Amino acid sequence: MSVSVIFLGTGGSVPSKYRMLPSVLIRRGPELLLFDCGEGTQRQFLQAKAGINRKMRIFISHLHGDHVFGLPGMLHSLAFMGRTRELEIYGPRGIADFVSAVNNSVKFYAQYPLRVKEVRAGTIVNDQEYKVEGAAAKHGIPCLAYAFEEKPKPGKFKPKMAKKLGIPEGPLWRKLQTSRYVRVGSRRISSRLVVGAPREGIKITYAVDTRPCVAVAKLARKSDLLIHDSSFDLSASKKASDYGHSTSTEAAQIAVRSKVRKLALFHISAMYEDANPLLVQAKRVFRNTILSQDMLTVYV
Ligand SMILES: [Zn+2]
Ligand SMILES: [Zn+2]
Repeated sequence: MSVSVIFLGTGGSVPSKYRMLPSVLIRRGPELLLFDCGEGTQRQFLQAKAGINRKMRIFISHLHGDHVFGLPGMLHSLAFMGRTRELEIYGPRGIADFVSAVNNSVKFYAQYPLRVKEVRAGTIVNDQEYKVEGAAAKHGIPCLAYAFEEKPKPGKFKPKMAKKLGIPEGPLWRKLQTSRYVRVGSRRISSRLVVGAPREGIKITYAVDTRPCVAVAKLARKSDLLIHDSSFDLSASKKASDYGHSTSTEAAQIAVRSKVRKLALFHISAMYEDANPLLVQAKRVFRNTILSQDMLTVYV
């Protein structure tokens, strides 16, 4: 199943002329996973033609305004546009109060069941085909980094080999892909002869807002894509450390440490009209780095 990442908003703290507030959409086949919902997310979401009635889960990193103020608008518009399918929202303690405060004061009359779950570090979602793990980021208030990881996919089926071994096409071929062996007459044939080794699934880690930390480095291990707080460049290192953020260089150091494939610099401070210096500095440490942009799609 194809997995793509759409950066809906890539700025931090306040919006700028060039960047909206943080939100990242993972599209996995027909399913959507939305990470954070900064103000204006709904507009970007519609522009991305993501679909309003798909299976969807929303993950909120923490309760700073730039990460949640888009949620009321999003929930309202989904109701307005006729969503009927259940919507799940995950986030640290306080997220349930936030959603119910909005709904108690400005009713959005959702026809869709809304399930809000307060979560901590550990396994947050364990679906049939993927899981979402959380880890405690290092930021002034409780903040979760999330890793989306597909479970290993079955290996490639080799039909030529199956024929060669005299296994008749049909239910036995299907069984080979789920069982350790099949019986053909008196013979017992191991699946390993006909099905390749399991293939690793895709892993994407979303870590904002955070200082570089061990928990995030561990969570991100071997990700295909790491989306990391990169609020500042080296000249503003003190600011990064004072406000619980990272420089692009620190994000790149985590990418190296976690052996990820690709790094996307994210949550770029509004003080940068041109964020290229952040990219140049990060690339000195980790070459396969990109600078996220609003509405950029990355196919993983
Ligand atoms: Zn932020
Ligand atoms: Zn924050």
